[in-house]
Amino acid sequence: MYFISTRGGERVTGAEAVVKGIASDGGLFVPEQFPAVGKEEFEAMMGMDYPERAALILKKYFGEYDGDALLAALRSAYGQFEGDDPAPLVRMDNGMYMLELYHGPTCAFKDMALTVLPYLLKTGCEILGRKENVFILTATSGDTGKAALEGFADAKGVKIMVFYPEDGVSKLQKQQMCTQEGDNVNVVAVRGNFDDCQNGVKKIFNSEKCTAAIREKGYLLTSANSINFGRLAPQICYYFSAYLDLVTAGQIGMGDLVDFAVPTGNFGNILAAYYAKRMGLPVGTLICASNKNNVLTEFWRTGIYETKRPFYRTMSPSMDILISSNLERLIFELSGRDAKRTADRMAALSKTGRYALSTEEHDRLKQEFFAGCTSEDETVECIYDFFEDYGYPMDTHTGVAMSVAQKYEETVKGIPMSEGRPIVVVSTASPYKFPQDVLYALTGNDVKDSFKGVKRIHLLTAMKVPEPIKAVRYKPIRFKTTVPPDKMFDEVLKFL
Ligand SMILES: *Cc1c(COP(=O)(O)O)cnc(C)c1O
Repeated sequence: MYFISTRGGERVTGAEAVVKGIASDGGLFVPEQFPAVGKEEFEAMMGMDYPERAALILKKYFGEYDGDALLAALRSAYGQFEGDDPAPLVRMDNGMYMLELYHGPTCAFKDMALTVLPYLLKTGCEILGRKENVFILTATSGDTGKAALEGFADAKGVKIMVFYPEDGVSKLQKQQMCTQEGDNVNVVAVRGNFDDCQNGVKKIFNSEKCTAAIREKGYLLTSANSINFGRLAPQICYYFSAYLDLVTAGQIGMGDLVDFAVPTGNFGNILAAYYAKRMGLPVGTLICASNKNNVLTEFWRTGIYETKRPFYRTMSPSMDILISSNLERLIFELSGRDAKRTADRMAALSKTGRYALSTEEHDRLKQEFFAGCTSEDETVECIYDFFEDYGYPMDTHTGVAMSVAQKYEETVKGIPMSEGRPIVVVSTASPYKFPQDVLYALTGNDVKDSFKGVKRIHLLTAMKVPEPIKAVRYKPIRFKTTVPPDKMFDEVLKFL
């Protein structure tokens, strides 16, 4: 299997796609064609556990990786999750299903991919004969950073450094990152917002001077951000697994369509669902859920991607994003894989902050997806009602997805196409990961202290507190440095 750049300049293997992270022309790597999952493979996967299902899917993209080692890596990655299924599907009393992806070491769905990425990257280096150490540099709005740190902590031949916006992450997220263990990790706060952080990291990646300095120190620079295909691929697997679980439970017949609702930020998670569909998974509508930062909802409505708009800080910070990097991969598909057109649009985006689709592309977009957004009040109400009615607590990101899924259901009710089609809502974080906001949604009470929030949610819901949340409370703070954006590279040099 080969990968090509969305901007036309390159053709590489899976190992190279993961090790490089981003194409030399600035484009994103996409599979040259989507590998199909055949009828017999669907049948075979019915009897498999999660790591076996994931190995079957991943092997299609990473043919040059050894199958047994891949399966072993997946077993070890998902062995760190609480419970024996890393992606359980739970039936709700409103007829929808929750796909819970938050039982990993950092309690958010980023763990599904970031526990596997170290293996894909290390083995990729071996396959390519790259002997240098690897330096992973990442900007985070909270969840990616912690999951990457946890995934790469004490990995041999790897150093990892995470920059986060000083005031752009939740208290608990900050504490999770700053207490990270491991001799090869570093965490630094940036005075500014997530965009300042992300731009600072991009500047380092794009500067000849910086990358040469990193090379001189003996490191191969790469990123753990969600544009890396090694992040995307493991996310495709849980859509297959959820579908197979529905068939196994007798909720649907093999071949029946299922809708998925996904709380969306950088467009990685929902893109993985779209890739699953292109591989042959019977997916009906993909429901793209946004919070008050509804740039995607507007894009679906108008066919114009317009990023010049106010930026809001919401209760679902991992979705507070105006430029969804992974959207480039979808635009590429919509254009009929026209690399020139994609490159032009991305150039327009960075120059003018906008681009427009053609009428045919816009129609295609609307055929495959439903896009909707919720206000903060609607999200709070949805979380409250769901707990009140069904006794099920959910986090603020999942609340956005559920609220939009309900709007979708209202919209399509009575349309024969959608009749009886199950909706799976992707649950991306534990309610305990955003304790203040979840407690507020459940009770209307504000607490200053995260752990007080955790305790009250536990008293109210009796839901088990995940071990990683309990543990973080008493861990010593290891990282306290804060720098302005223009001093980020100095910190990198100090660390290497
Ligand atoms: C990252 C994240 C999202 C958004 O996922 P994307 O792949 O960036 O669209 C949603 N919810 C949570 C909890 C996250 O951490």
